[in-house]
Amino acid sequence: SAALLFGFKSVNVNAQTTAETAKMNAFVSGLMKKMTIDEKIGQLNLVTGGMAITGSVTNSGIGDGVKNGSIGGIFGLYGTAEVRKMQEAAVKGSRLHIPLIFGLDVIHGHRTIFPIPLGMSATWDLDLIKQSARIAAKEATAEGLNWVFSPMVDIARDARWGRISEGSGEDPYLGGRIAAAMVRGYQGTSLKNADAVMACVKHFALYGGAEAGREYNTVDMSRLAMYNYYLPPYKAALDAGAGSIMSSFNTVDGVPSTVNKWLLTDLLRKQWGFKGFVVSDYTSLNEVTNHGLGDLQTVSARAINAGLDMDMVGEGYLKTLKKSLQEKKVTIADIDRACRLVLEAKYKLGLFDNPYKSLDPVREKNDIMNEANRTAARVTAEHSFVLLKNDAQTLPLKKAGGSIALVGPLANNKRDMLGTWVIGGEWEKSVSVMEGIQRVVGDKVKINYAKGSNITDDTTFMKRLNFGPGMVSLDKKSPKDMIDDAVDAAKRSDIIVAVVGESQSMSGESSSRSDIGIPESQQKMLKELAKLGKPMVLVVFNGRPLTLQWENDNATAILDVWAPGTEAGNAIANVLFGNYNPSGKLTTTFPRSVGQIPLYYNHLNTGRPYTDGPTKFKSNYLDIDNSPLYPFGYGLSYSKFEYSNLKLSKTNLKGNETLTATVTVTNKGQYAGEETVQLYIGDPEASISRPVKELKDFKKLSLQVGEKKEVTFAITPDKLKFFNSDLKYDWEPGKFVIEVGTNSDITEKASVKWLK
Ligand code: BGC
Repeated sequence: SAALLFGFKSVNVNAQTTAETAKMNAFVSGLMKKMTIDEKIGQLNLVTGGMAITGSVTNSGIGDGVKNGSIGGIFGLYGTAEVRKMQEAAVKGSRLHIPLIFGLDVIHGHRTIFPIPLGMSATWDLDLIKQSARIAAKEATAEGLNWVFSPMVDIARDARWGRISEGSGEDPYLGGRIAAAMVRGYQGTSLKNADAVMACVKHFALYGGAEAGREYNTVDMSRLAMYNYYLPPYKAALDAGAGSIMSSFNTVDGVPSTVNKWLLTDLLRKQWGFKGFVVSDYTSLNEVTNHGLGDLQTVSARAINAGLDMDMVGEGYLKTLKKSLQEKKVTIADIDRACRLVLEAKYKLGLFDNPYKSLDPVREKNDIMNEANRTAARVTAEHSFVLLKNDAQTLPLKKAGGSIALVGPLANNKRDMLGTWVIGGEWEKSVSVMEGIQRVVGDKVKINYAKGSNITDDTTFMKRLNFGPGMVSLDKKSPKDMIDDAVDAAKRSDIIVAVVGESQSMSGESSSRSDIGIPESQQKMLKELAKLGKPMVLVVFNGRPLTLQWENDNATAILDVWAPGTEAGNAIANVLFGNYNPSGKLTTTFPRSVGQIPLYYNHLNTGRPYTDGPTKFKSNYLDIDNSPLYPFGYGLSYSKFEYSNLKLSKTNLKGNETLTATVTVTNKGQYAGEETVQLYIGDPEASISRPVKELKDFKKLSLQVGEKKEVTFAITPDKLKFFNSDLKYDWEPGKFVIEVGTNSDITEKASVKWLK
């Protein structure tokens, strides 16, 4: 059912017919009859490329683990020659000739890197997002891969959490639609195609709800919050046909996901009807012992019983399941179930028909990082940038005449353009901001460059950032000399463009931050530059919402570029100089200060509503402006879009009628541009306290200068449904507030009465 999708149906184009399923069942049953217990347990064992080649505790390397059937899949190994060697060991060297499945963390592109997922979500463009996954699948399969650990669909409301960069932000509806688009992109029209990879939805579940945004932390959440806000994107990805799902590191109701029977069986299988397989996160099974649930044998037995099918890296299943079976701590039925699901995945991928289906050296040569892929990455990056401020039409910059001080630690850097999780990414092939600007302006604009500051001067922070080749490092110059250089460059220039923010390793896994501002070293530089009183444009790199209050108050313009990927510099230059008019919109609320977190647009009201006035019961912080700095859905354009004339087809409705909401959007600016029109609905009369508003639909449109368009949304009662206190999914009659606007804060409103 599409129950969790708020009226949006997530279609599975890879669904098998009944006849195909019967054929698969017969094949897998036949194979399993021949398998020993050891071979069955071997299918549940996922190892890294390193473990398969050089061995591990339980195998002594290739020729052993793969051939003796104790390895079911390998991740982190790619390249046609390497994959062929391993696949041959499995198919020719093992007793039953069962092919391996090859996985990798392909998160936002494989070789051609697209913007980080949080940036991609800011495009609000499902076609571009789907295309990015399609290209990633083509590149990944061209190197022998058939399984990707993506999409990451964890809803996050806490910007301190570094992995907010890997998801699509705070909204379950948008998150669900993006999750479905990515699955369709990865899996293509048929999983059997040579260029299709199986998606692995992660991290099931609620990983983004980690307390205080601390990595791997406890999650403690009401069922209502789970069902209404956190679970929908996982469900949307599965409804779109995702073939596998990964259990998360955290606890859900006190039980680690990896051994959580309610989660992996009652919810996933019984309520949602999921037919694919569940893989653990990296050693998350072993780590259940750290959660305090017993030794490896105990937790492994519990995991197979709870519904975990494949064990990533830890070899808990390999080392203990047979013993547990002999001791009657697990049943053969559970092992058979898990083995069957893994074999079915290989069958669905067509690996039994042709285990080498993707291995094509010609494709490996031609399909990777070709011009078309790079162009797609550039276009996607351009659409992902969010213009946060643009006073006095400072942007776009002029392509000829005058001079620019190009400063900041990220202005002349290739490595940090890519962002988190870029295993196949080749940073040497990415375009720096400096290179991009030079390509656009040639020698028509004088560029005065200075690095200006280190990414941070804090040596402890620096050490924890895992610097690698090409990454920013402490400069030989003193911080003061660097700032002097920047000020000097600025004095010689008409305008300052400061490229600042987070380096690649400041967000992502294991990268939580307690202070989410631009690091102090860079702020010091910006403060000195601000004293000059020249127009100052900030290009901000970030894997998360940052607290940009000072920057907002002191810079002339701010362009948020996330981590844009391989084509970073070209995309940034195109936007700065007006070759593309920015259209990205935030998918996470930007707070003014860390103390406001969690701050998200779809919050409940309090009984003593928010007010800054001199009332007795102040539910606000006394010491700051309590609004977000930039709300969810926010993003400017070089143009100006005016909303007018919100019309509803009816104001009184009954039952399954359809309401249409129409609004007129006019381009009142000087540039053609794109606008994402957002529909929100509020439900102020219900049996439980409901969010002040919730995103229910959106439409992207292009408008020429002076052009006017009518945008219509069709609203059925499906869009009004939610889970009530009994976890029943339905809508309740009463008043509804319909809002259409340019972001979650600025909308046109009207209300209706809708009865059953
Ligand atoms: C991460 C996963 C990833 C896995 C394999 C884990 O640490 O949480 O997202 O897929 O490693 O690399």
